[in-house]
Amino acid sequence: MSGLAETDPEIAEVIEKERLRQLNGLELIASENLVSHAVLEAMGSIMTNKYAEGYPGKRYYGGCEFYDIAENLARDRMKKLFGAEHANVQPHSGTQANMAVYFAVMECGQGKMMSMSLSQGGHLSHGSPVSFSGKMYQVTQYGVDLETEMIDYGVVEEIARKLKPDLIVSGASAYPREIDFRAFAEIAEEVDAYSMADIAHIAGLCATGMHNSPVGHIDFVTTTTHKTLRGPRGGAIMCSSEYAGLVDKAVFPGMQGGPLMNTIAAKAVCLKEALKPSFRDYNRQIVRNAQALAETLADGDLRLVSGGTDNHLMLIDLTDRGITGLEAEMALGKAGITANKNTIPREKRSPFVTSGLRLGTPAVTSRGMKEEEMRSIGEFIIRALRDIHNEANLRRIREEVVELTGRFSLYPDEP
Ligand code: PLP
Repeated sequence: MSGLAETDPEIAEVIEKERLRQLNGLELIASENLVSHAVLEAMGSIMTNKYAEGYPGKRYYGGCEFYDIAENLARDRMKKLFGAEHANVQPHSGTQANMAVYFAVMECGQGKMMSMSLSQGGHLSHGSPVSFSGKMYQVTQYGVDLETEMIDYGVVEEIARKLKPDLIVSGASAYPREIDFRAFAEIAEEVDAYSMADIAHIAGLCATGMHNSPVGHIDFVTTTTHKTLRGPRGGAIMCSSEYAGLVDKAVFPGMQGGPLMNTIAAKAVCLKEALKPSFRDYNRQIVRNAQALAETLADGDLRLVSGGTDNHLMLIDLTDRGITGLEAEMALGKAGITANKNTIPREKRSPFVTSGLRLGTPAVTSRGMKEEEMRSIGEFIIRALRDIHNEANLRRIREEVVELTGRFSLYPDEP
């Protein structure tokens, strides 16, 4: 870091302040995680220096022989981890992985897709009107059943039969329950649509058997590599060999130019880590921690959407507390706990205010925290939300958060 401190002290200072924020705070954003030293080293390496348009063995630039090895390692490890026939590790992000699949199977302006609505758990890139996906395709959305707050596969099937979409998208950003990917695959087959599963949030869980995997059932599986997979920020796509050419062409030259090869090297590192038995233990602990946190919150009279969680995240419904998601997010922030406001199934407020709060356990589990710490964190949250305007109360909780986090490393590969 001495080079950076000399060249750009302002940025060096920002990085140090952010390091301390991460170290001293509780990160409960469900889509975030902490990476190992090894992943950071690959990300910050000279692998950023070169262009490598194309794919291993077929590049548009000379001098790519070592980049080819790195990309092949990333692809092969991803295939092995998920049991996939083909993997493309070039998408710069999850949104771009989704974009590439849409490009691969739908005509711009005419393609018809079905997906989960943003307000009930889906992602922006699944057809929200403010995203390219909602502007370029004809989108019909399904939500959750308002009683159970879970997906009703009968309703999904009914919509699919009527709409006859080109593509049915499953996967979510704020859905605390297991998704039945086989049911989605069967519905798509019945109506002769392509199927896509976006496992950005649950990739680690799918890879380790903590959640059923869509690979082998769903035509295209997209993901990010930075959530439960615990790698660098980025995207990837898996599919059968039959669709490999279609996907590869849609990514490059269809949607992107040169791949971020430092990120691809770091993806290879994270996938190597994910192939170790300890990654299964880690993902099992993510789920156990989510359950312990959810139980503590429910015991504190906080209502959880759908009554609990099967995965790494949960949604608190704050409606009967008389506070908004935004107020809760701000109060927890003062207490050293980072979480995000989120819409809930019967949402009446705007997405900038919301009635819900989303919490996830991937990052705190990476720090080595277990059920006991989850119970403490649950108590912090209950105390903070009981009295969100009591600054002294929030300050006291923050001190306890600093005491708790002080016992755990920020790096999953450092005890
Ligand atoms: N898909 C899902 C289900 C997500 O939750 C997210 C991000 O949270 C994305 C895609 C987008 O990933 P990115 O931010 O890398 O574009």
